[in-house]
Amino acid sequence: MTDNCPNCLQRHVKPVAEAQRTTQVSHLYRCPACGETWSTNRDLRAYGEAA
Ligand SMILES: [Zn+2]
Repeated sequence: MTDNCPNCLQRHVKPVAEAQRTTQVSHLYRCPACGETWSTNRDLRAYGEAA
């Protein structure tokens, strides 16, 4: 799942790391354009995904 850079708005940045729990998944991103790093947490139940 890709995200947009919050710094330079680079689109479709791919995650460099992923950590999944029972109902949550965290992605760590690093922007290839400006080097910004950020992370997201998503609740899998909100996306209707079982795994
Ligand atoms: Zn960026």
